[in-house]
Amino acid sequence: MMMPYSFEPDADYAAQLDREDILARYRDEFYLKPDSIYLDGNSLGLLSKRAEQTLLESLADWRELGIDGWMEGNHPWFYLSEKLGELTAPLVGAAPEEVIVSGSTTVNLHQLVATFYKPEGKRTKILADELNFPSDIYALQSQLRIHGYDPDTYLIRVKSRDGRFLDEDDIIEAMTEEIALVVLPTVLYRSGQILDMERLTRAANDRGILIGFDGCHSIGAIPHAFSDWGVDFAYWCNYKHLNGGPGAVAGLYVNSKHFGTKPGLAGWFGSRKDKQFDMEHVLTPAETAGAYQIGTPHVLSLAPLLGSLEMFAEAGIQNIREKSLKINRYLMDLIEHELGDVGFKIGSPVEDFKRGGHVSLEHKEAARICKALKEKGIIPDFRAPNIVRLAPVALYTSYTDVWNAVQMLKEIMDNKLYEKFSNERGVVA
Ligand SMILES: *Cc1c(COP(=O)(O)O)cnc(C)c1O
Repeated sequence: MMMPYSFEPDADYAAQLDREDILARYRDEFYLKPDSIYLDGNSLGLLSKRAEQTLLESLADWRELGIDGWMEGNHPWFYLSEKLGELTAPLVGAAPEEVIVSGSTTVNLHQLVATFYKPEGKRTKILADELNFPSDIYALQSQLRIHGYDPDTYLIRVKSRDGRFLDEDDIIEAMTEEIALVVLPTVLYRSGQILDMERLTRAANDRGILIGFDGCHSIGAIPHAFSDWGVDFAYWCNYKHLNGGPGAVAGLYVNSKHFGTKPGLAGWFGSRKDKQFDMEHVLTPAETAGAYQIGTPHVLSLAPLLGSLEMFAEAGIQNIREKSLKINRYLMDLIEHELGDVGFKIGSPVEDFKRGGHVSLEHKEAARICKALKEKGIIPDFRAPNIVRLAPVALYTSYTDVWNAVQMLKEIMDNKLYEKFSNERGVVA
């Protein structure tokens, strides 16, 4: 159990929270830059020594074994996607065979929509939301076009009442008999709001609608129970909270009740493993989530996940969630205490059960405040037009990091150090 928390603003209290932190020892396992505080693990998680190690082992297999690396060596590549699926399953609350590590987030969404979007009679539309990540929306629009449907009519985007959050009541109200499929984020990428996936899934199931979730901002940050909730499918990236490395191979989940549904986008890696090399022109799909793989996996972008997922299993997702909540609460309390009067608005849910792994700060000078922070060695990220996202990460951010970062932010605001930068985003924000 974590120690109780009651906010105090001084640096000693941060040091005390660090001493009590049962996950503190994982910090040394990451490559942290001295004189820098990394608060962008929700966009690209840092490299750990274990992830580096498993990557180097796979490189060594290539060097030593050549083609035989597929079946021999440290981590036989032919089974790596399945093995990583098993290791990821506890993080999403699924059976091992319901998860596969394959493709990329957007490719997996294409695959899942190509597989599970089956317009019929009146049920032809896809329901999403107006706050979702653009790539997801582009994928849904293009899938509709492939079916000959105009996305302006057939893609319904639930509106946000305030530009930050979605209301589950509004989403459920939009689940009409014209909807064939619902695709929503688990956690909204700007505000960090967690949607009530269990309730939404029940509502969709009751209406005979399939539902899938984008878990990019929740995997590795919060626990899930996809199987128990009856979620039909999900997909996520492994380079944010899971620290799998830039462009790490992504994940997908398919509920076992759908096993046997033919993949919409077929390829030979979706074969039953024992049949794949029969080289027949009739695909025999795997009887697991493995069926939704397409081609040869990017082994060198899978390998770091072995080391990384081992750490998640060891640290425990419940412990990670508890620290994440506590350190994000601490961040918000400090900001309110130190920066209450300089125009920041916390744009994340105040209730713990509704907030994911980051805090979003709104400010009209956000773009250049981010630049000023970076110049001072604090790494946030910016989301246009006005959001500074800060993600203290359970495995490698200390309470003292948060304390120091907020002091720096205060110095930047008090002295208007951001004014020397332009208030525009960089190419990669
Ligand atoms: C990061 C992210 C993506 C990225 O998709 P890629 O295919 O990995 O580029 C998609 N959706 C959401 C919600 C994200 O947060």
